[in-house]
Amino acid sequence: MDYIAETIALSIDSLILAACIKQFYKNKNAMAMIQGAPYLDINKDLKEIVGTHPEKKLTYVSIRGTVKPLGNPIFSNTNPNVKGVIQLLRIKEHVIQRSTAGFWADSERVIQEVHNVMPFALENKGIQIEVCDALAADVLDMDVIADNFQPTVPSVIDHIWSFFAGVRQRGVQSTEKMLRTGTVITGIGELVAGKDGNLKLQPPSNDGPFYLTNMRVTSLLKKLDGSKRNYKILCIVFGSIAVVLGGLIVRKYLRIRKEKGDAEKQRMQLELSRRERRRRIRDEDLDENQLCVVCKTNPKEMILIPCGHVCLCEDCSADITENCPICRSEINYKHVAYGI
Ligand SMILES: [Zn+2]
Ligand SMILES: [Zn+2]
Repeated sequence: MDYIAETIALSIDSLILAACIKQFYKNKNAMAMIQGAPYLDINKDLKEIVGTHPEKKLTYVSIRGTVKPLGNPIFSNTNPNVKGVIQLLRIKEHVIQRSTAGFWADSERVIQEVHNVMPFALENKGIQIEVCDALAADVLDMDVIADNFQPTVPSVIDHIWSFFAGVRQRGVQSTEKMLRTGTVITGIGELVAGKDGNLKLQPPSNDGPFYLTNMRVTSLLKKLDGSKRNYKILCIVFGSIAVVLGGLIVRKYLRIRKEKGDAEKQRMQLELSRRERRRRIRDEDLDENQLCVVCKTNPKEMILIPCGHVCLCEDCSADITENCPICRSEINYKHVAYGI
């Protein structure tokens, strides 16, 4: 129990530190993989290039082309002029929630999320490469077509209810995002020739990140580098906090150990002086009324307060805690009687 605050702080700090280290390495590995991925132009020679590789597969490459639907595109729900190949419809509820600590804080939760996907390809110079399993992408950049927030006007009953329930709705946000046709995007993943001979870009089998982004490779690398640097700073900050907390725990441990040691030393000294005092007294011949009324062996050593009777030895006084054996009055406190 002595270290509970420090332990909780250190645990929380360690969790954040671990998450930051994980993100730092995730960015670092992604950068290394992207830097090692050859950039290939989409052109008529590409099929031939892929065909020369074992299993007609290039594990990790980057290509860039224009999004083109294979079939009918999806039309936006909010703007009929916009068409695309992937549509995300999300309804989010914003609430103010009472935390376990008793504070009210904003939070949000997704009520509904729907993805609509059409088969599509990346096209350049009339050559198309189909993109498979686009929703599995680690980064999938889409345009925000609509984003509306509908605030809730709470009634008196809602206020009362929220007071007891600990949750009050602030409003509902509905968002529509689309990967529009005609957008130029960079695809980083595995390039493979299908059974029909057509090229496909799919999630890589080497655990590398799958990207479908409107950034060019250089911008993507710059962004990842920036993010890597931020996580590095966070790692240093939370790492330093961990060191400080660890230092505090060690210091507290040493302090408590020293206090215990000091108390033990003091107790030993008292015990020694007590023995010495007794030895001196026992050497003298004591008559009956100088002996402890309970054991009749040791000298009377303790004064009982408030009655003031000196009638017990230290050993017996340890067992007798409630009433004075002479006058039966309550014992509030005992002290060594040095006057004997
Ligand atoms: Zn005694
Ligand atoms: Zn008494």
